[in-house]
Amino acid sequence: MTVITNHMPTAELQALDAAHHMHPFTANGELSQKGARIITRADGVHLTDSEGHQILDAMAGLWCVNIGYGREELAEVAARQMRELPYYNTFFQTTHVPAIALAAKVAELAPGDLNNVFFAGSGSEANDTNIRMVRHYWALKGKPSKSVIISRKNAYHGSSVGSGSLGGMSGMHAQGGMPIPDIHHINQPNWWAEGGDMPPEEFGLQRARELEEAILELGEDRVAAFIAEPVQGAGGVIVAPDSYWPEIQRICDKYEILLIADEVICGFGRTGNWFGCETLNIRPDIMTIAKGLSSGYAPIGGSIVSDEVASVIAGDEFNHGYTYSGHPVAAAVALENLRILEEENILGHVRDVAAPYLKQKWEALTDHPLVGEAKIVGMMGSIALTPNKETRAAFASDAGTVGYICRERCFANNLVMRHVGDRMIISPPLVITQEQIDVLIERAVNSLDECHAELKKQDLLHSA
Ligand SMILES: *Cc1c(COP(=O)(O)O)cnc(C)c1O
Repeated sequence: MTVITNHMPTAELQALDAAHHMHPFTANGELSQKGARIITRADGVHLTDSEGHQILDAMAGLWCVNIGYGREELAEVAARQMRELPYYNTFFQTTHVPAIALAAKVAELAPGDLNNVFFAGSGSEANDTNIRMVRHYWALKGKPSKSVIISRKNAYHGSSVGSGSLGGMSGMHAQGGMPIPDIHHINQPNWWAEGGDMPPEEFGLQRARELEEAILELGEDRVAAFIAEPVQGAGGVIVAPDSYWPEIQRICDKYEILLIADEVICGFGRTGNWFGCETLNIRPDIMTIAKGLSSGYAPIGGSIVSDEVASVIAGDEFNHGYTYSGHPVAAAVALENLRILEEENILGHVRDVAAPYLKQKWEALTDHPLVGEAKIVGMMGSIALTPNKETRAAFASDAGTVGYICRERCFANNLVMRHVGDRMIISPPLVITQEQIDVLIERAVNSLDECHAELKKQDLLHSA
């Protein structure tokens, strides 16, 4: 067997990657020509690639490495747990200490009566659980017709058939026979792109009331739940106007629709509280968790379920679960991650130091000629690139053309910043320092300058 080491030349590794590795969300033919970037190590907020570049990871991997890279404690805990009990399941009336301890800890951290945890291996799996759980809940309550779940366009809830259907990504729905039946999508509260001449607060109310319209149109007896991310992440870090969430909450309460908050990104400190729902004052019946739960050190996700829903589900055998539900190594790693978040007061660092500092610097990016709005909640932010700030115009080029150019400039400047269409987004590790935020912003500005020059050169500074 070939031993694949970090010391092979980059080109050889890229050739092997191109020959055998199918990447997610990637045009693999195109990537084979170009060669994938190979990350070899990481520490704190920095990645190292196979060419020795030190890259500031302003995305915390995929929004998940909340405590930063390179924490020995998690490696220690994983090794210890593997030696003691590497695997056992939680089916068939069995349990183990890591799953018990993590469920109890998550229940302690979660607000209100969200005291019950169903484990999964990922956010996608957890949302699949949610689809079945809310439908089964209503069936057990004698209302099996309540099976429709309302979600939002451009939402991201995962990539399995169920969770990808819940999500509102049209590019995903176009492939592989999605969405599944009884998922309904309403518009997102993206004022910059879709608000027209309306003031943001009025627009926020209008978009929230689409939920009420959908419930009335579908029939109250058909609707099981509404699912949304407190702050839309992969859709471009879309922060709803302040009027939006109180109205959504009012509507869910009025029609007794279960509210599922997808906290996969917002959870575990990203918005400055344990959960995005606390920051935005939302009272969900179920929360989806993953990513920051283990800071990405081990794959684990789950659903945090209210006492009311859990007690109904407890009345029957729930024919659902995953081999790795509550996996002992992943659960032990997650528990250690939560210990570090708590004992090192990392949420305090976010609230008092990192988030206020980043907000001030981030919002100042609107001084740049390419940047329209800048949005930020805690440690997740976005900027809209535009050829005309006054009219909030989109570029005449295909959506994403400009964002891609900007992202490539960021990489060239040793900064990972993602693009969603022509919005640039960040979600750095929560432990980032003020000095590192300065570097992040400096590299972002340089990249924006270079992008601007490139757009002029390619004659792309035109409004749609
Ligand atoms: C990433 C993400 C998911 C899916 O999680 P996976 O672990 O990739 O399956 C679900 N919801 C949101 C909001 C996400 O950002």
